[in-house]
Amino acid sequence: MSLTPALPRSHAWQGRSAIQSAVSALQAGRPVLLRAESGSGGGYDVVLPAALADTAWTAWAVRWSSGFLYAPLPADLAEALDLPLMVRGGDNPATRTHTVSIDAAVGITTGISALDRARTARVLADPGSTPADFTRPGHLMPVVASNGGVTVNPGRVEAAVDLCRLAGLPPVALTGQLVRDDGELVRELDMADLGDSHDHPIVDVADLVTHRLFVGDGIRGRVTRALGLPWHAVRSALEVVGFVDAVTGAEHIVLRGPGTPSRPVVSVHAECTMGDIFGSDSCFCGRELAEATERIAVDGGLLVYLRRPHGRGAPVPTGHAWTEADDGALAAILHSLGATSISLFDGPASRDRLSRAGVTSLDVARGAAENEPEF
Ligand SMILES: [Zn+2]
Repeated sequence: MSLTPALPRSHAWQGRSAIQSAVSALQAGRPVLLRAESGSGGGYDVVLPAALADTAWTAWAVRWSSGFLYAPLPADLAEALDLPLMVRGGDNPATRTHTVSIDAAVGITTGISALDRARTARVLADPGSTPADFTRPGHLMPVVASNGGVTVNPGRVEAAVDLCRLAGLPPVALTGQLVRDDGELVRELDMADLGDSHDHPIVDVADLVTHRLFVGDGIRGRVTRALGLPWHAVRSALEVVGFVDAVTGAEHIVLRGPGTPSRPVVSVHAECTMGDIFGSDSCFCGRELAEATERIAVDGGLLVYLRRPHGRGAPVPTGHAWTEADDGALAAILHSLGATSISLFDGPASRDRLSRAGVTSLDVARGAAENEPEF
């Protein structure tokens, strides 16, 4: 099946400008300051793109961190470069994915200088590198990011890799945790503390998660329209089109009724196998889906049917729960269809999140089921 990107034409969620500034800085080889979630230790990391690491900014990262630099990278790259975990099944979750340390095999002296570590970082990010291009152990610490990045694990390692990928660069970063001169971790960032007049972009990991869920990873949009399935009749008065979800792997479905206007009424339904297919008595899903389908067959409009991920570890809960990840898929689908001004039928979608993603729901169409209990 051939796919085509479906990036939104506009999206206005908070943090958008921070992501754009960060991407510009990384593309210029300049640092981004990443504010980590408290769950991953908090504080700030300086993030440089390993592919563009130079001596000056690497020395800057050494100066304002503990001096211990990491190189977050994807698991498949660590495997391809023969970088095994330092300790299999390590005790500390924060260091469990550290691999053996490395130096570049040629072109360096002792390996510890900023000059040498910048070179090692560049070799690590070079798509042409092989295991023989490194010596082990060395003075740079690769760290393996979770597959799926921040949508699966909103950690500092995943965020650094995702930022490099968003910038269109090899997904390898050079990072260090910011440390104050008194030896404490930087918790509240004041640029003056860094002795630098530059206005380095600051990115929250949460902003990056939102970007991944609503826009994409820099290579693929959140959803891609399946070209093998252009609008086609599924039954009298109803057409269907499919979208593949880059985050969950699910294939979502959109039904369109006759005479659908440019500002359509949009109904949203989350897949519920027991209710939709078997008519379970424990929820209203089957009845609501049937009513929504008949409604758009008569009145026109769109029904967005969000499939649930079928693989383990997918970052969206199954069942009746509705999350930011679902609103992200919905917003991306509506952008792809050009439906950025809609009337939203009663349902689980968040009008606020859709609005921040550039989808305006001017009013809410009311359904007969509005007084039914929530699940
Ligand atoms: Zn149900």
